[in-house]
Amino acid sequence: MSSRVRVEVPEGSGFGPTHLPYCVFRPLGEEPRVGARLGDSVIDLAVALDDPMFHQPTLNAFMTQGPQCWREVRERVRVAAESELPAAAVHAVRAVRLDLPVAIGDYVDFYASLDHATAMGRMLRPNAEPLLPNWRHLPVGYHGRAGTVVVSGTDIVRPHGQRKTDSGTPDFGPSRRVDIEAELGFLVGAGSELGRPIETGEFAEHVFGVALVNDWSARDIQAWEGQPLGPFLGKSFATTLSAWVTPLDALTEARIPLPPQHPEPLPYLRDEAAWGLDIDLSVEWNGHVVSTPPYRRMYWSPAQMLAHMTVNGASTRTGDLFASGTISGADRAERGSLMEMSWGGAEPIEVNGVQRTFLNDSDEVTITATAPAVGGGRLQLGEVRGRIVKAV
Ligand code: CA
Repeated sequence: MSSRVRVEVPEGSGFGPTHLPYCVFRPLGEEPRVGARLGDSVIDLAVALDDPMFHQPTLNAFMTQGPQCWREVRERVRVAAESELPAAAVHAVRAVRLDLPVAIGDYVDFYASLDHATAMGRMLRPNAEPLLPNWRHLPVGYHGRAGTVVVSGTDIVRPHGQRKTDSGTPDFGPSRRVDIEAELGFLVGAGSELGRPIETGEFAEHVFGVALVNDWSARDIQAWEGQPLGPFLGKSFATTLSAWVTPLDALTEARIPLPPQHPEPLPYLRDEAAWGLDIDLSVEWNGHVVSTPPYRRMYWSPAQMLAHMTVNGASTRTGDLFASGTISGADRAERGSLMEMSWGGAEPIEVNGVQRTFLNDSDEVTITATAPAVGGGRLQLGEVRGRIVKAV
């Protein structure tokens, strides 16, 4: 008879039995499969639940099933997590390789933080109203590059491009202003048909879960190319997604009312049950915490973002990712980008005793987050980490 083990969860772990985020992992030399995290272990769902849906290199086959299946699986995982499991179904997280958990469909990035949009407006248009006229009427966003979404831990090659200079003509070379954007990503599980918008109240029927995102940004490339059509090569070189997807149902205790919205949004953006999320982020630069952005201050709700993204009849597919935009609070120590923290490079930040503005080669940024957990305590979202490497 094969041996059986019970997974012990360390005291204070952010990965207790009411969290159970999903991943795609490979034990050494083996094929990828779907796992769920408990404590410092990953439970191999292909073995523990013996279901072909988890013998997969991505979460997509599971995500496409819809909310009833998601709830049933979550309950099966919860029961398995509290039982003795075959030893072959349990691996130490540190001993496995984590893959990009989802085959990304389309990728949209929003701009939903009032504090971020206001700070950027003040910096870029110092003599004008910080918010553009549309900002309080719709969640501003753009379509990004799905194919360059990479899993946490992937090295980020410093991008080349046309760089804005003070002379009025650009030069060309490696970006001198590589930045981060601390964001929260939402992953569509069950898609929607072309021509049929998703209403705000239908959010949970479509969205499978959330994961931290770092939307790497080359500010000098972005500043030159961005008029009039918006972000392009300054953003598309890489976007890092956490290896761990937290199910929406693990965040019910983190739901909070939205901050007030003025003016009242148009009817398709109204939501009787609108909720935001009480998530505390932390940004570490070479191991030094430089910022603690609060998600609770985000102006537009996740449901409003999805409703707006589809109001024109655009369809959604399993694996679509939409991210919140940079999460910033009102204070300098709560800003989610180095652009804001250093005020466009004018006010350096002290990191480990050195004055810094943007990222150098070999710099590593890790974004973490915690939120109230179901049943008390706090859960920890899977981290998103990346290191800048020299331009090729
Ligand atoms: Ca962004």
